[in-house]
Amino acid sequence: MKVGFTKLSTIDYPNEICSVIFFPGCNFRCGYCHNIDVVKGKVDYELNEVLEELKEDYQIIPAVCLSGGEPTLYKDLPEVVAYLKNLDFLIKLDTNGSHPELLEKLKPQLDYVAMDIKGPLRKYQAIANYNNIENIKKSVEIIKTLPDYEFRTTVSPSFLAPEEIQEIAVLLKGAKRYVLQGFKNTPFYKAEEPTTEWLNEIAQNIRSHFSEINVRGGR
Ligand code: SF4
Repeated sequence: MKVGFTKLSTIDYPNEICSVIFFPGCNFRCGYCHNIDVVKGKVDYELNEVLEELKEDYQIIPAVCLSGGEPTLYKDLPEVVAYLKNLDFLIKLDTNGSHPELLEKLKPQLDYVAMDIKGPLRKYQAIANYNNIENIKKSVEIIKTLPDYEFRTTVSPSFLAPEEIQEIAVLLKGAKRYVLQGFKNTPFYKAEEPTTEWLNEIAQNIRSHFSEINVRGGR
């Protein structure tokens, strides 16, 4: 099994340095995807060798982020999580929320989960070419019971209107943390990049739904 691997990242685990394992493949097709090589399976590292290397590093790197693509597509993910937990790593899972049963199973071992919310449920087909909305709803409810987590949405005025972000806020109401990420153009997908002011204004309008709301990016 081959994966992508970044040994040191300062942006993929809240307030910790971490290693990141990128699992290939994804069951969504978001036009704005920034990890299209990983989605297409263009990855170079043997998972076993990465896990072996992490065994050497656990005293200097406190956390591992399991990302993708979509890591929950990998059937042996529970074994990977158990192995890393056994080495005392903090574990973060990045997910699109399409596998609530696996999320439920992994829940006790996860220290942080970041779930992408692509848009209001009725727009999942248009944005991500995915239509099992029940899975998304179940994952949201499971994640809301975790001690630490975030929901996050990539936002551009080209594909999400402020009223649609309001709809997302209602879906997530009561959540601990919500992040609005400013869309950035990719070589394959061009749309309007939002300004920081626009993102902040939307954040201000939905603030009451969350314990914490953050804005990342924006021009
Ligand atoms: S869910 Fe994430 S990895 Fe999958 S296509 Fe969408 S942006 Fe890319």
